[in-house]
Amino acid sequence: MTEQNKIRLIQNADNRFFYDRRRNMIHDRQCTLLDTLNTDDLVAVDTLAPGFVTRKKLCPTCKRKAAIRNGMHGRLRTSSDQMQFFTDFFGAVGASTCDLARMFIYDGGSVKQISNDCIEIHDKQDTWRVIASENELSLLHNNYEVNDDYSRTFGGGFHVQGNLKHSSFHSIVETICTYSFDYHKRILAYNKRIQLLHFETGLAIANNYVCCDKKSLLFNYYTFIDIQGLAGSRGTIRGMRILECTVRDGYAMITCRIPIWRRKEFESMMGLLKDKAYEEQRFDYLDVCEGAVPQPA
Ligand SMILES: [Zn+2]
Repeated sequence: MTEQNKIRLIQNADNRFFYDRRRNMIHDRQCTLLDTLNTDDLVAVDTLAPGFVTRKKLCPTCKRKAAIRNGMHGRLRTSSDQMQFFTDFFGAVGASTCDLARMFIYDGGSVKQISNDCIEIHDKQDTWRVIASENELSLLHNNYEVNDDYSRTFGGGFHVQGNLKHSSFHSIVETICTYSFDYHKRILAYNKRIQLLHFETGLAIANNYVCCDKKSLLFNYYTFIDIQGLAGSRGTIRGMRILECTVRDGYAMITCRIPIWRRKEFESMMGLLKDKAYEEQRFDYLDVCEGAVPQPA
């Protein structure tokens, strides 16, 4: 390849990356090593798709630039001003090259500048804003409403993705890359199911409280719905006798006969059950969205 063709190849604004076939290595268009390579080995590459990258090496010299550039938008993708802005921004917030590659290459995220201290990241279905103020980072998440079928409508605007203690850019990347609305959907469906059961049977759910529906001189009778099978149906609940246990579509309706002298014990045991259920399943999806996200088991 002539020197002229080499300049043409490297300066072509459409060429974001170069793949060095001989060394099986990918370079950013601004890599300082490009001049030392034989241009006959170079192939221009537009986008670093995960499948393309995993079989090749990313040049250690320019990996950071390559990751950032892969996330940059449309005509700005070869703008050196934009590259300078993002290089400065990610440097200031302490972003590691590894996190940038994770987000902009392997997770397919993209980034644009909103202002001097705010960037917007789009990853899968969701849009996020990272604001770098003097001493801290904050993360905003796009607003959405949940429809009856658990799909989402994005109505515009952002809410603070709070309570995450975003002390590091790394934790922000973790939040963005692991965010899953499918998990929210499971919780929504679960809460809806509890409401439905409550409506259909008129009974309290074990997770909430137990209803005492009958008393005698010696016994209290409790009937409740055990939606998760936490109470078990093997004749006793922690040594207390189950009179009747009807297993229905995914839940059990349990009637217990509890000697009145063991009532307190039973109720505190159900209280423990409630806490357990609460921690495992029952929280509002918005809390999950806003707060520290417990990962599904
Ligand atoms: Zn390079």
